[in-house]
Amino acid sequence: MQTTFTLAQLQDPQFASSEKILRACVHCGFCTATCPTYVLLGDELDSPRGRIYLIKDMLEQDQPATREVVKHIDRCLSCLACMTTCPSGVHYMHLVDHARDYIEQTYKRPMSDRLLRGLLARVLVDLGLFRLAVVLGLIARPLAPVFDALGLRRLGALLRLTPRRKPAPPVDRIGKVYSPEGRRLGRVALLSGCINPVLAPSTIEATIRLLNRQGIEVVIAAGEGCCGSLVHHMGREDEALSQARNNIDAWTREIEGAGLDAILVTVSGCGTTIKDYGFMLRNDPAYAAKAARVSSRARDVSEYLVTLKLQDARAPVPLTIAYHAACSLQHGQKVLREPKELLSGAGFVVKDVPEGHLCCGSAGTYNIMQPALSEQLRARKLANIKRLKPDVIAAGNIGCITQLATGTDVPIVHTVELLDWATGGPTPEPLAELARRKASSAERNV
Ligand code: SF4
Ligand code: SF4
Repeated sequence: MQTTFTLAQLQDPQFASSEKILRACVHCGFCTATCPTYVLLGDELDSPRGRIYLIKDMLEQDQPATREVVKHIDRCLSCLACMTTCPSGVHYMHLVDHARDYIEQTYKRPMSDRLLRGLLARVLVDLGLFRLAVVLGLIARPLAPVFDALGLRRLGALLRLTPRRKPAPPVDRIGKVYSPEGRRLGRVALLSGCINPVLAPSTIEATIRLLNRQGIEVVIAAGEGCCGSLVHHMGREDEALSQARNNIDAWTREIEGAGLDAILVTVSGCGTTIKDYGFMLRNDPAYAAKAARVSSRARDVSEYLVTLKLQDARAPVPLTIAYHAACSLQHGQKVLREPKELLSGAGFVVKDVPEGHLCCGSAGTYNIMQPALSEQLRARKLANIKRLKPDVIAAGNIGCITQLATGTDVPIVHTVELLDWATGGPTPEPLAELARRKASSAERNV
């Protein structure tokens, strides 16, 4: 694709990077077929190719973003299915990240938008505030249809996403080291993060148990916090970079102290961002090298677990699992084989979800900001899952787990919870009743 940036614009490293990306696009349109918003809306401007043209014009003209451009960029899930499909290697993620940052700096959103985005950016990254918000959301959950009827669909969506149970009491794991009982075979940092400790502490607990059982020491680095992914996708770049620097400092102290073989992430949306810290901070002389080192050590938990070869893993009861591949894991990190290999290696029957490349509609805060599109994608995903008649759904991202749980009674757990169970850990709570039924029916058949 030809571009017409001025030399002055190209002095800016972000513009220079985006120009390179734009030039790689040969506008073949292959990416349109796998783009969820194009599949739903059929509008070229809601396809990757259409958005690439919109971003190109917006950046070249160097004028404030228009309402029309913002509408189509906001509808993008950042699912990155287009990057998996593109034969020319167009790095859409870095391009749309730049576009979101540019929009944030040049476009004044309506007041309601600004308020909601500001609230999410503040609450979701603060453990205490998030816990309080979940408790309040639990109380107000029955009012979701009222908000819908009043035309406040985003607030309705927010309430519907609130888990049905009170969050578990807080456990302070920051700065703690979890050592294996026997000989230490490795040492890793595990991201505790911002949402997981409130919505899914069982994932962190299962990961620690599972790794310790394999002889791996786990540290939750002192000072770590939100990875910055949520605000990064809102275009709030200064906040995202500040959160990234904070985590880089925390993990650098560990790397240079007791040492780290890897930095493990159990939320794939966060993993994609942490793996990109090196790029995000490439122009910061004080952080570029440290950020690149942190990114090079970042692994999805499944990537690390396959290297350990879980010899003793055995499914306690026979279960058919629909494996939902989170976009951030399959498209963002190109990790697709590992979680399925681990689950089937443990004796579970693993099935791929039809149309597995399409997003479930979670996508960070997308399910709150774009409820209509998000609900359509969730319904489509759940219909595809239902065709498999699974006992359980497994996924590697709390965003997808929360999103899918609002529309199905099939239990959903993180992949590591199944692996922990299969190597001697407790039965994951959502599976307790199912496991009891399966076990007694197996006994009857003996
Ligand atoms: S598939 Fe790649 S090269 Fe083709 S239009 Fe899409 S982004 Fe451009
Ligand atoms: S990131 Fe996803 S929604 Fe956005 S353009 Fe690419 S395929 Fe479409």
